[in-house]
Amino acid sequence: MSALPLADLHLHSDRSDGRLAPAALVGLAAARGVRHLALTDHDTVAGLDEAANTCAAEGLRFAPGVEVTAGWRGQSIHVIGLGLQAADPVLGAHLEDLRRRRRERLLAIGERLARRARLVQAPAIASRVCAEAEVPTRTHLARALVGAGVATDLDDVFRRLLGRDGPGHVPSDWPGLEAAVAALRGAGAQVVLAHPHRYRLSGGALRGLVEEFAALGGHALEVSLGNMGRADLDRLATLARRAGLAASCGSDFHDPAMTWNTPGRFAKLPADLEPVAGRL
Ligand code: AMP
Ligand code: MN
Ligand code: MN
Ligand code: MN
Repeated sequence: MSALPLADLHLHSDRSDGRLAPAALVGLAAARGVRHLALTDHDTVAGLDEAANTCAAEGLRFAPGVEVTAGWRGQSIHVIGLGLQAADPVLGAHLEDLRRRRRERLLAIGERLARRARLVQAPAIASRVCAEAEVPTRTHLARALVGAGVATDLDDVFRRLLGRDGPGHVPSDWPGLEAAVAALRGAGAQVVLAHPHRYRLSGGALRGLVEEFAALGGHALEVSLGNMGRADLDRLATLARRAGLAASCGSDFHDPAMTWNTPGRFAKLPADLEPVAGRL
């Protein structure tokens, strides 16, 4: 039993690859019963002021957050900071560096798609996305490719073109897990390893990641997300228990058109885990 109000601690706005402006996102979350909210855009804190103001106006508790891209054993992983000081200069420089790498990566993906998938228009599309998006993600590129008629929907783009075995795959070159955790801890954040079940890692490698994350000073694992099966939730809860980590929960909402993933909709955390929301 938890007395905590419904907390959604993983949400994206249009400051990264979400569809809604922060104010509209907060409005939707409030309408879905969310009472405690963290905005966690990829690699930017640009939406936090607007989200904080709207939460104050609507009577929601707000935690400033960010979802930072990091590298671990050649893979991209995501690390969330919650309750952070958005003006922290070291975190600001870290995020700026990530956005610069994102632009370089997206242009490289455009070149690869031209060369390996004969999509001659891909470099120009990638350039346009980089010019228009403050945080250019593969989601932006995927939407633009769908808009250009190259694919039917985002899933199609990720499956055929951008996925790990696709022609547009560019190996990740992100600052490591240690740097991500340090930048977030330095800004006073509770540090959360995002959606551990989504990484392509063996059981042993995932345990290694969680142990390393805890040893670096990480605070919590994301245990309950939107669209997650019970088996994954149980597996992540076990990992959190074994590593002595708190637990976080959120929808990872991006887009109201994706009706299967909406703010506030995910399973309750197991009662024996400490909800990181209580620390925010
Ligand atoms: P990036 O951070 O640039 O590597 O882009 C990854 C983002 O793409 C994630 O944050 C998701 O929002 C999105 N994404 C990944 N796979 C899919 C998919 N199959 N369908 C729709 N969006 C996806
Ligand atoms: Mn995203
Ligand atoms: Mn993520
Ligand atoms: Mn996310």
